[in-house]
Amino acid sequence: MIATDIDGVIVDWFGNFLNFANLIMGTNYQYENMHDHDFSTNFNISREIIIILDRIRSCQYGLVKLPIIKGALRAIEKLREKYIIVIITSRRDEFKEETSIWRDMYLPNIPLFYSNGANNPYAGGERRQSKEEIANDIGASYLIEDNPNEFENWKSKNIEPICYAQPWNLGVTNYKRYNWDQILKYLL
Ligand SMILES: [Mg+2]
Repeated sequence: MIATDIDGVIVDWFGNFLNFANLIMGTNYQYENMHDHDFSTNFNISREIIIILDRIRSCQYGLVKLPIIKGALRAIEKLREKYIIVIITSRRDEFKEETSIWRDMYLPNIPLFYSNGANNPYAGGERRQSKEEIANDIGASYLIEDNPNEFENWKSKNIEPICYAQPWNLGVTNYKRYNWDQILKYLL
């Protein structure tokens, strides 16, 4: 069984937010320079402003219309021939409805679990487990994830973290970083 994250792995929330924030703020930040998973650090603005910007962004694009990361859906389709696929996301409760609609559109019949976000101030919810705990409970062998904080203090020997390569996880050195083509080569 393979567990996979959504944002930064299947869905390009980060690119959509970056373009929107650049437009609103008149800035020209580049995707490849987004070296922190927390965009308030990349933009040098407060988290409150990030949340407000994202609410405005959400009015226009929501979560259902966000761009899909190149190769993600084709790769998951291929992986489904050999593995059971599940989604573990730390999107907050207020985004559950949109996330279910998105799942039904793009990855129907794939189970969806909600976790804490490790050191992710924008994510998670009450009474949730960590991604690692959920993956353990459901018996996943791999967890595909872009948030480098999820890999810190990793305890499970049964689950192998697959770091989906993004500019904000360049600092991950104890795990190999993969794009979707490389994941397919590794797991098939
Ligand atoms: Mg993510």
